[in-house]
Amino acid sequence: MKQNNKKIAIYPGSFDPITNGHIDIIKRASLLFDHVIVAVANNEQKRPLFSENERVEMITESIREIPHTTVDSFKGLLVDYARQNNAIAVIRGLRAVSDFEYELQMALVNRKLDEQLITVFLMPHESYSYLNSSIVKELALLNGNIDCFVPEYVKTRLKNKMRKK
Ligand code: ADP
Repeated sequence: MKQNNKKIAIYPGSFDPITNGHIDIIKRASLLFDHVIVAVANNEQKRPLFSENERVEMITESIREIPHTTVDSFKGLLVDYARQNNAIAVIRGLRAVSDFEYELQMALVNRKLDEQLITVFLMPHESYSYLNSSIVKELALLNGNIDCFVPEYVKTRLKNKMRKK
């Protein structure tokens, strides 16, 4: 196991856009680790609604009050990015049983690639357990109320984006 003085964790994801569910996980992770890097995975195959810069900006704005967290983006393998940042752990959120199979597969593959990197699963408050970025985008497109799903700043950015579509 790695012996770092400072325990750094990476929270990777698409964050297209960040939701209150993601923020719940970031708050919990920030209590466990000395530093949490929220890292936007630049996966163009997923055809994100927001650009990498927009997603980084929305996260930065949304978590500025959560201590010892920073925001970044990365390309390529998560294990390589984690190593470059001396991270000891990867944080993932588990909402429901439906997340489990994919998350288990990813955790085991990442462990195969780097045995020292530990995946830590955190569960959000149950009020966020049905929430994901796709639902928020769909609601925004149909003019639904998303007040309790995303921070005000993200809501404004979503509305502007939908207006342009
Ligand atoms: P990815 O494309 O990697 O799944 P997401 O942005 O959808 O990226 O999710 C990043 C991580 O956050 C995943 O571990 C996912 O399970 C978790 N997550 C997403 N939405 C929520 C939520 N509402 N509550 C808790 N965790 C969540």
